Amino acid sequence: MIYLDHAATSPLSSEALLAMEQVLRTNYGNPSSMHQAGRMARNELTRSRELLARLLGAGTRDLYFTSGATEANNWAIRAAATLAGEQGRRHLVTTSIEHPSVLAVFEALEHEGFDVTYLPADGDGVISLDVFEAALRADTGFVSIHATNNEIGSIQPIDELAGICDERDILFHTDAVQAIAQHRINWREHPADFLTLSAHKFGGPKGTGLLLARSERGPRAKELAPLILGGRQERGRRAGTENLAGIAGMAAALEAAYARLAEAPLHYDDLSQVFREALAAEAIDYRVHGAVGDASRHQASILNLYFPDIEGQTLLLLLDRQGLAVSLGSACEAGSSEASHVLLALGLAEDEASSSIRVSFGPETTEESVREAARIIGEAVRSVYARHRR
Ligand code: PMP
Repeated sequence: MIYLDHAATSPLSSEALLAMEQVLRTNYGNPSSMHQAGRMARNELTRSRELLARLLGAGTRDLYFTSGATEANNWAIRAAATLAGEQGRRHLVTTSIEHPSVLAVFEALEHEGFDVTYLPADGDGVISLDVFEAALRADTGFVSIHATNNEIGSIQPIDELAGICDERDILFHTDAVQAIAQHRINWREHPADFLTLSAHKFGGPKGTGLLLARSERGPRAKELAPLILGGRQERGRRAGTENLAGIAGMAAALEAAYARLAEAPLHYDDLSQVFREALAAEAIDYRVHGAVGDASRHQASILNLYFPDIEGQTLLLLLDRQGLAVSLGSACEAGSSEASHVLLALGLAEDEASSSIRVSFGPETTEESVREAARIIGEAVRSVYARHRR
């Protein structure tokens, strides 16, 4: 199989597997237990937390382990909106192209009486600073904007957006799930108050993620409301026995991903170019969404492609039969027959949006595999056209 769906999830890295195996085989204690087995588990938890904090340029108290980015997004958005609301600031800002784990929370908050602005993106899927500033109001208390879009790979100007919020004392959260393996995060210098990550997008296991919330700068993020009540894990804010193997796997995966960071831009630029050239040589109609080739606005590991007059779902199934794994957009929306909310928000017509697929590359993707993928896509597209053009 040629796996080009790394934005949905990545294979477990060998480093993560090794770390997890070690914990699962030998370190079975409960980190809260007082005996030797418990202390061993607690030591592993501390080691992983310190490693992650060091890699992310964060303090260990800035870091909360969660079951993934969906949970971290729900937590940060709800907690920050509540803080803002308590100060009488009930206007919230996000974008119309967020992941469902962000959008659904804002929709729920609207039902609870918050006023939410969903910012439009430009045709490339980027939020303009002018549009953003114009949306801010005196009663804006919280903003959540993702770093890299999971469907088309557009990059948002997070430093500028969060900087504007910082100046106006507005809380800022960013979902950095798709950016993490390619952009080093230095939390100490980062202007956001909250940041979300998910291990399975950078070679870690599924069901593990984290929320960064500031413990030092600014008093507000310190007041992060607990998510799950119970025991004293995660400083009483996210109770429940820790997923120790998952956490150790996440730490090992990030260490391995960051060790490859210097090569990442070249690797993905190269794959993107080779793939697009190979696809162009197939002499089929297609278009790529977004500012592809502009490294400040588009992340080369994610390509969203439009094939006129072909149902994306039909194409995906044909490609799957040939051993090529791609997706229609967010795996979290799979099963829904509706066109992608991201592509529609970029101004695409319904039939254009439903005729698009996403390919996404990972660290082990090779030039040879993307050339082969382009050939399989070319063949599949021609076979559909030969039968009928919609
Ligand atoms: N945010 C973004 C941008 C994502 O791409 C994903 C995964 N599709 C999530 C959040 C959810 O992450 P998790 O699977 O860890 O809940």
